[in-house]
Amino acid sequence: MSEVRIFPGAPKVVMNDEAKQASVTGAMDIRWMWLALIEADKAAAVGEVPVGCVLVDRDGTQLASGFNLRETCSDPTAHAEIVAIRRAAGARGSWRLDDVTAYVTLEPCPMCAGAMVNARLGRLVYGASDRKAGACNSLFSIGEDTRLNHRFPITGGVLEMECADRLSRFFSSLRTRGNK
Ligand SMILES: [Zn+2]
Repeated sequence: MSEVRIFPGAPKVVMNDEAKQASVTGAMDIRWMWLALIEADKAAAVGEVPVGCVLVDRDGTQLASGFNLRETCSDPTAHAEIVAIRRAAGARGSWRLDDVTAYVTLEPCPMCAGAMVNARLGRLVYGASDRKAGACNSLFSIGEDTRLNHRFPITGGVLEMECADRLSRFFSSLRTRGNK
């Protein structure tokens, strides 16, 4: 236990080690999610649905990043998470990513959540929920399902508005162009 003053003259806030760790983790989650959003912007720039992913190891080092390339590659598996997982495993020379946290701007679909189980992912942090295809809370709970051989902790809703905004702006600009 230690006492932390938020600013001079403020009442002392007593934080235990767990609370301190949680606030550090929360700040890091936001920082990495901004980088995942930059990846999402790269997808939008080439006309892809803006979803981005960054993979970070236990030491806080970025292993790989990726953005959605489904149209560009004519590949239904080229979601941001799969792109990033392939790059990370390739760079590391191992399929096992059990010390890795994945930051994704959108709740992963069943395919990507399944790849995370197969990669023995350490932790997942996502931004916007996906009520139509989300497999890590919305429709399924892959990652927390005790019937599967691997589980990982999940934090959702990090920079949710920023992540969801990108998607809604992208789809509304598609509709505008479609109406012309
Ligand atoms: Zn996916």
